[in-house]
Amino acid sequence: SRSAELFEKAKTLFPGGVNSPVRAFRSVGGTPLFFAKGQGSHVWDEDCNEFIDYCCSWGPLILGHAHPSVVKAVQDTVALGSSFGAPTRLENELAELILSHHKYIEKIRFVSSGTEAAMSAIRLARGYTGRDKIIKFEGCYHGHVDSLLVKAGSGLVTLGTSSSAGIPEAYAKETIVLPLNDKAALDEAVKQFKDQIAVVAIEPIPANNGLLLQEGEFLRYVREVCTRENIVLLFDEVISGFRVGFEGASAYYGIQPDVLAFGKIIGGGLPVGAYAASSKIMSHVAPEGPVYQAGTLSGNPVAMSAGIAQLTECLRPGFYEELKEKTDYLVNNVLNYARSKNYAFNIFSVGSIFWVSFSAQKSIRRSDEIDSDEMKKFAPFHRALLEQGIYLGPSGYEVGFVSAAHSTADIDRTIEAMQRALDVVFAG
Ligand code: PMP
Repeated sequence: SRSAELFEKAKTLFPGGVNSPVRAFRSVGGTPLFFAKGQGSHVWDEDCNEFIDYCCSWGPLILGHAHPSVVKAVQDTVALGSSFGAPTRLENELAELILSHHKYIEKIRFVSSGTEAAMSAIRLARGYTGRDKIIKFEGCYHGHVDSLLVKAGSGLVTLGTSSSAGIPEAYAKETIVLPLNDKAALDEAVKQFKDQIAVVAIEPIPANNGLLLQEGEFLRYVREVCTRENIVLLFDEVISGFRVGFEGASAYYGIQPDVLAFGKIIGGGLPVGAYAASSKIMSHVAPEGPVYQAGTLSGNPVAMSAGIAQLTECLRPGFYEELKEKTDYLVNNVLNYARSKNYAFNIFSVGSIFWVSFSAQKSIRRSDEIDSDEMKKFAPFHRALLEQGIYLGPSGYEVGFVSAAHSTADIDRTIEAMQRALDVVFAG
């Protein structure tokens, strides 16, 4: 096939043939599809095969592919020049749109990826507190930031490693990794490193190592401890932000974090990330304060215009309710089928995020509760879905996303396809 040919060529050009590891299809077998086109909820590969897409670029495309208002905004803006390295009106517009509809933040700084957002947020927390150590949770991914690439999820689990080469011990030593959903472990760490911890970083909706939904009670406890110990609480909302609601997980759980990191949806499919906090904390960022952070393409006007167009749609009344209804319909129908057949299978979901799990466990809140042997069933499941024109991201540890563009007909087709795929998987 054309995709296979392109992949052969790509292997001579890029490490592993890809520009981001999880794209390589290593955990599901076969070769990656090369995509030629996306429209709404559908994508077409270079061989003209059509798929209903639940990867949605790993989350950014909450309106689906090539949404008319995003396309128009990008075209209109790029025609006026793609970058100035100077302020533009569009940065103000996107910032105002966000800040006026998000009660958990007062000031924002745009960067170009989720990784940069998390990295900068950590630096800000360290600069703000004058402390060095950070706490992160096993299975939470915060981009390929050196000090955060310790027991992270995402491509790292897919590749079967929990850390990365090339990170000095000295950096890793500043990072304390704790299990999720474990108050005692947090207490112990905070006691042992009293007055040394700058920040507790967490994905409040951990979605990079399966979907490890946390109880509100645990997150509230983390908040309490951070407040008591003067530790900055960083919510990495790169996935959950503007996804489970415009105000993300903060509003979902009703918890005020100190600093938030954003990415994905905020850029409408173009490279945008951001970090945000109270005016007081943000006043520590250069040039107002001593924490340096900069970017040639930060606040890029074309990317800003895509973000404005996309977030404007998200603010339509009923937008998130509709997304959730559709997702629940998908999830419930597949689950009912799996139960009727006694398959050891579950789907966890929140809002329009879902994760298929090949075990009947009712809750999975920590990465070590996932049975990696059972997860091998994801590969045949993925393959059976591809054969029926359904595209999930090529890793069982990654979540799926429903977009506003998915129609009832799409979902009905997907339910049938997933039911058949389950029959294939559980037939052995
Ligand atoms: N944080 C979280 C929670 C993420 O899910 C991701 C990416 N999946 C990142 C940070 C890094 O974002 P990016 O890939 O845009 O650098």
